[in-house]
Amino acid sequence: MSYDISAVRADFPILSREVYKRPLVYLDNSATTQKPRQVVDAMTEEYYNVNANVHRGVHFLSQQATELHEQSRETVRRFLNARSSSEIIFTRGTTESINLVASCFAKGCMQAGDEVIVSELEHHSNIVSWQLQEARQGIKLRVIPITDDGELRLDEYEKLFNEHTRIVSIAHVSNVMGTVNPVEEVIRIAHEHGVPVLVDGAQSTPHFEVDVQRLDCDFFAFSGHKIYGPTGVGVLYGKEEWLEKLPPYMGGGEMIKNVSFERTTFNELPFKFEAGTPDYVATTGLARALDYVTTLGMDNIFQHEQALTRYALEQMQEIEGMRFIGNPKHRDAVISFLVGDIHHLDMGTLLDRLGIAVRTGHHCAEPLMHRMGVQGTVRASFGLYNTMEEVDILVAGIKRVAQMF
Ligand code: PMP
Repeated sequence: MSYDISAVRADFPILSREVYKRPLVYLDNSATTQKPRQVVDAMTEEYYNVNANVHRGVHFLSQQATELHEQSRETVRRFLNARSSSEIIFTRGTTESINLVASCFAKGCMQAGDEVIVSELEHHSNIVSWQLQEARQGIKLRVIPITDDGELRLDEYEKLFNEHTRIVSIAHVSNVMGTVNPVEEVIRIAHEHGVPVLVDGAQSTPHFEVDVQRLDCDFFAFSGHKIYGPTGVGVLYGKEEWLEKLPPYMGGGEMIKNVSFERTTFNELPFKFEAGTPDYVATTGLARALDYVTTLGMDNIFQHEQALTRYALEQMQEIEGMRFIGNPKHRDAVISFLVGDIHHLDMGTLLDRLGIAVRTGHHCAEPLMHRMGVQGTVRASFGLYNTMEEVDILVAGIKRVAQMF
């Protein structure tokens, strides 16, 4: 253990609360993570002592707020190892980041009949955003199939390219099965065809180091709330050359240079894509969250969560009737399962009464549910503050529920 887990847990006040008179065991980290004091305190401090709208003011507070906001952009740049902070666009989250790319890319770089490649294991946000463009612009979705273990079929992927392929949009990590996709390979193959790649990093950034230059992805999206930061803020990274090519997303203040009824010109990057007042307090919170995980060390977090996941898989497979949904070789800290014919909702509800928070259902991945032949799953997902004891409580809880049926 490379960090002091009890000191870490003490940073997260919610972890010491009880539910149904039992200690909370929070295993729903893929849906959202809890927030350390460092994040909430920084946001409170900004609201109490700095608050003013950014970018537009000459007065002291506005300049201070602007400085904090732009420092946060620099923190994100460093975290992703982007070349320039003008490649970092603040959004409301992964969903908005993907919608921005889908909408602007389809408008600026695609024509009717052109194709986007996604995969069978995508979150709805990386399917529906493109389907909206399918309806509006006549573009088409092509889908990379997966194996029964929940891994991408790279052989089939290669076959999807043709003269109409314009972009690949793919999850870094599956939010259901934890599959870590070989995105380096996906990107290399796409680039051989002269096609850019958007990586949905909602489930990778909280768990291991991401270097967008090393990946060589063209776009990368993630959410603040899944990496111990506040809700309502996220990031779109884009290579400057691509961002320059795309038309703006929304119109409004901040994204313009000059406005007249005859002719409006747009602001430079990244502001061209940031219409309106940004959530500048949330960007401060996000930067403190990135500082937090960086101080603990992404590699330490990765090792800790991998140990938890391995231990959980070992213990869980001893349970009679246990069925894992997906069995990827490279798995992140996520386990989807079903036991016997117990409905996922029953399992989730009864675990909840034992103080264990897991998620049940289709996890915003209905096409994946169809592929795996299930209606839904129970999903346990780990974060940097979870412990082996919590895994034991989960395993004991599942056994207890199973005995009731
Ligand atoms: N993609 C993946 C893989 C996700 O897990 C999620 C969140 N469950 C999203 C996209 C959407 O993220 P958000 O709701 O924060 O926009």
